[in-house]
Amino acid sequence: MHDVIVVGGSYAGMAAALQLARARRTVQVVDAGQRRNRFASHSHGFLGQDGANPADIAMEARRQLQAYPSLHWIDGRVTSASGSKDHFNVTLDDGEILSGRRLLFATGVSDELPAIDGLAERWGKAVFHCPYCHGYELNQGRIGVIATGPMSLHQAQLLPEWGQVTFLTNGHITLDTDARQDLIQRGVVIEETTIAKLDGDADVLLTDGRRLPFAGLFTASRCTPSSPVASDMGCELMETPMGMQLWTAETKETSVRGVFACGDVARAPHSVSLAVGDGAWAGAQIHRSLVWPEG
Ligand SMILES: Cc1cc2nc3c(=O)[nH]c(=O)nc-3n(C[C@H](O)[C@H](O)[C@H](O)COP(=O)(O)OP(=O)(O)OC[C@H]3O[C@@H](n4cnc5c(N)ncnc54)[C@H](O)[C@@H]3O)c2cc1C
Repeated sequence: MHDVIVVGGSYAGMAAALQLARARRTVQVVDAGQRRNRFASHSHGFLGQDGANPADIAMEARRQLQAYPSLHWIDGRVTSASGSKDHFNVTLDDGEILSGRRLLFATGVSDELPAIDGLAERWGKAVFHCPYCHGYELNQGRIGVIATGPMSLHQAQLLPEWGQVTFLTNGHITLDTDARQDLIQRGVVIEETTIAKLDGDADVLLTDGRRLPFAGLFTASRCTPSSPVASDMGCELMETPMGMQLWTAETKETSVRGVFACGDVARAPHSVSLAVGDGAWAGAQIHRSLVWPEG
């Protein structure tokens, strides 16, 4: 029986596990190795690691974590979880069953991308969702914002901070007079011809045959939890402007007592810094729940 089973061993899960291991609690991490930013070769905005390879950040964190003797790590996937506070069981994809007094889901989210020919292969390289992560490197060049829904208007309003913006509505948003006026005042060019495909580094080919070259493109992906295991065991979901996430209280406890969640799957907006902070807080809160079980 472990004190805590951490499902998902990326930035948020490891930050939580670190607090717990340092409190000499037994922690079992299970990680399927599919970080959300695995498509990008550089991570920006995380203090002390700005511009580093996201895999290197995770690898060094894991190396430091595994130095703690009460920390155990399995490379694998949790397929189901059951039980109640003080005795949970999780089943892994190889059939192994693990038991823990508390569960933490740090399983991240998956990005649902617009179905545009050539977009998926440019995700994290020339197409991004977060200006704070990837806006600076575009050197104030031309930026295309590809609409997916209401969040896209927000992106088109924000991104002039990083370059000259063209808002490609692509049939996914209808702009009222106020929104149109607001964009024009911010210097945004509105392009309502639909997109045929992406080409070259970050060129947009329109269905009328025009080619629009950009330094980079942004789109508001819709997020859904990467793993259904937490919701399958009864943890409530909630809708946010970025998609679905697990509901948690301030303490990061979900609607199921003894089950916690942190990182992208349990907060918005999303970044490595915020996932690490959320994980550190969750780790401390789980520890408190072990020290004061009735608290
Ligand atoms: C293209 C792209 C570029 C980005 N660039 C930046 C950037 O430059 N700077 C920045 O701050 N942020 C960036 N982000 C955001 C950043 O990737 C996320 O905020 C961060 O990864 C969230 O960390 P997390 O630990 O919550 O989840 P994740 O890093 O997504 O990790 C979740 C982990 O849980 C595992 N998992 C899922 N289900 C299971 C299961 N059932 N069993 C076991 N393990 C499971 C996954 O395999 C994964 O290892 C970027 C995102 C994208 C998509």
